[in-house]
Amino acid sequence: MSPAPRHRTVPVRVGPVVIGGDAPVAVQSMTNTDTADALRTAAQVADLARAGSELVRITVNTEEAAAAVPEIRERLDAMGLDVPLIGDFHFNGHRLLAKYPACAEALAKYRINPGNVGRGAKRDEQFAQMIEFACRYEKPVRIGVNWGSLDQELLARKLDENARLPEPLPLERINHDALIESALESARRAEELGLAHDRIILSCKMSGVQDLIAVYSDLAARCDYPLHLGLTEAGMGIKGIVASTAALSILLQQGIGDTIRISLTPEPGAPRTQEVRVAQEILQSLGLRSFTPQVIACPGCGRTSSDYFQRLAEEVEGYLRERMPQWQTRYPEAAAMKVAVMGCVVNGPGESRHADIGISLPGSGERPVAPVYIDGEKGPTLKGDTIAEDFKRIIEDYVARRYGSGG
Ligand code: SF4
Repeated sequence: MSPAPRHRTVPVRVGPVVIGGDAPVAVQSMTNTDTADALRTAAQVADLARAGSELVRITVNTEEAAAAVPEIRERLDAMGLDVPLIGDFHFNGHRLLAKYPACAEALAKYRINPGNVGRGAKRDEQFAQMIEFACRYEKPVRIGVNWGSLDQELLARKLDENARLPEPLPLERINHDALIESALESARRAEELGLAHDRIILSCKMSGVQDLIAVYSDLAARCDYPLHLGLTEAGMGIKGIVASTAALSILLQQGIGDTIRISLTPEPGAPRTQEVRVAQEILQSLGLRSFTPQVIACPGCGRTSSDYFQRLAEEVEGYLRERMPQWQTRYPEAAAMKVAVMGCVVNGPGESRHADIGISLPGSGERPVAPVYIDGEKGPTLKGDTIAEDFKRIIEDYVARRYGSGG
């Protein structure tokens, strides 16, 4: 089974990256450094970009942050990284873009949250100023509505209208409609102000999985703007990963979503790049993109006499991840390779035959040998202390042979 055809959207160019249309679903991430610290922020953007983030968002919340943006861009350029920087603006974006034109120029896209632009009459005026800067500097914008900062005036209006209905709709439905309307109304207003239709990306982030699915399904049916998907405030560790995966997989399977971000709260000491890895794994697991060869490993059971096969699976996965950046230039198709590392004879040979290359380790009571399978055929049998090294060498030869120009 394959994902449904992508929901038709108008492609939007963000620096060197295209979002929407026929472009692959893009991975993005966000820094958590103080943007005013250009050195640390550039270093974290570089880490995220090298991990595979195709766009990186930075918060631009103060004058110091806005002043640092051009330096961050220069530092990245000096590292040979053309990853587009997205400016995340709230409350004072109109003032910062006016006062720091080099910041306005260095950013590849502006994120505007209609709920955090200003209050009352000022909201429209300040939103219009942000859009004018986008037009002047020829930048796309993401109109990013967020459940936690929904335009309260719009919500109050929707609630009043609902209360007057003979049969009022459930509150949940009103909340969803208010989010969608905030995004669509703001997009309409941006176009009235002169921003081109193909310079707008929308998002309506929520923290509940079912809410997110309901809102994006409706939003996708009502517009052809590219959609940025993400579960906001997904949470920490396993909970955040599972919730994001559940929500985004269902939408992506329905062809909804043009770019994704996984909003994980990093566990203490965990690298910020974890969110990039999760985004890539979701897209690759769904068969939407290939980033790095996949390791198929069994969970292990009472038939495995030691944790040797777990360590081998981990070592092979690390090796493939480490090698892929080098393979990328000569053997880019190796990203779609499947490597099986199995714990015993029960499923080992069968699963290894289904992979491009696989190894079936000996379970307890089995002969201490590890047959290797290549393209479904039995290959060499490994044994002794050098199984890991020998298997990695076989993989390396396989990649050169199968994915090289002569392969
Ligand atoms: S392949 Fe063997 S070791 Fe792995 S889970 Fe199945 S029975 Fe257990």
